[in-house]
Amino acid sequence: MTGIRHSLALAAALLLAACAGAPEPLADLQPGERPDISSDEAGLWMQMDMVEKKLKTSGHVVDDPKLNAYIRSVTCRLSPEYCKHLRLFIVQTPHFNASMSPNGTMQVWTGTLLRVQNEAQLAYILGHEMAHYIRRHSVQKWRSIRRKSDSMAFFTVTTRMAGLGFVGDLADLASMASVMAFSRDHERESDDIGFDFMVKAGYAAAEAPKTWQALLAESNADGEEKKKPSVFFASHPAIGERVETLQAKTRAHAGQGEARRKPFVKAIRRFRRDWLRDELRKRDFAGTRVVLANLAAAGHPAGDIKFFEGELYRLRGDDGDLHEAIGAYRAAIKAKGAPPEVHRSLGLAYWKTNQPKPARKSFRRYLAAMPKAGDRAMIQSYIEQLK
Ligand SMILES: [Zn+2]
Repeated sequence: MTGIRHSLALAAALLLAACAGAPEPLADLQPGERPDISSDEAGLWMQMDMVEKKLKTSGHVVDDPKLNAYIRSVTCRLSPEYCKHLRLFIVQTPHFNASMSPNGTMQVWTGTLLRVQNEAQLAYILGHEMAHYIRRHSVQKWRSIRRKSDSMAFFTVTTRMAGLGFVGDLADLASMASVMAFSRDHERESDDIGFDFMVKAGYAAAEAPKTWQALLAESNADGEEKKKPSVFFASHPAIGERVETLQAKTRAHAGQGEARRKPFVKAIRRFRRDWLRDELRKRDFAGTRVVLANLAAAGHPAGDIKFFEGELYRLRGDDGDLHEAIGAYRAAIKAKGAPPEVHRSLGLAYWKTNQPKPARKSFRRYLAAMPKAGDRAMIQSYIEQLK
């Protein structure tokens, strides 16, 4: 609340400072450059400094030093000059998004890290966001809103920005994204610059369009679940066009550069299960199946992927889903990398399909694998009930 009141006061001050002139072409922001203290751009930065403070204490930031250092190293490989002036925040939320504030606050959501298959794909996204910062797109957007004297939109942007650090429900995020959306020209420009960044840094150009293609597949996956608005699609229109443009650009660089799949898979290994649990809570089962298939293709351990496939079926609970779940859990156990919980989930699925004997066996296996499990007493009572 205080943030919003503060931002309204600031908005009023900025309105007073506003003059309705023609747009001036803006020079690129230089590394370490800060806007003149009396400018509207400085006011915008001040707003975003407040947002950054809120974000820091939001409880949604993944502060793991190793993961942060890894993502930061990718931004530094793209641009050693600019990377030290950016502050990276990995935000734990299961949706695809990355964003850049005019003051250099860069957000990368865990839903993005779960969807990216290698370092080159991530580099493209980070390069795109850095381009918004260097080309000062936020202040251009801000000025264009003011020129249109659209006071409602103006106030919406200000209050929305004050709340930007809040990672709330999807509807809130989607409406925020549409308010903050850059123009198509700015998106195209950032696509171009982001692409040049990654190619110059030695990444495989062919990876650039793949994340967008995977998102398109996810969005088109037909499930019975009602399609929810995607934050990504609200802020990035004309995805098909962007894929085509990028694919055309990759042709000149065919066979060049590196994807760096292994370092990326290794960097997110410790977080994959947490993020997949978040992903399942969305109950967008058709979309999550695409995500799981992409993870398998990226070389994440089959045991883990099959386990989550089983969890997906067990949670969805349509006709025949428990049998599908049993098949997936059994495949997970056969493959490498399944978590010990696979035995508990398999036990539950057997129980629900009236197979007491294998259910008991699975529960026992779970307890053998997890002798100090917090739910030991409960699982033991299940075994008793099944006798
Ligand atoms: Zn963008």
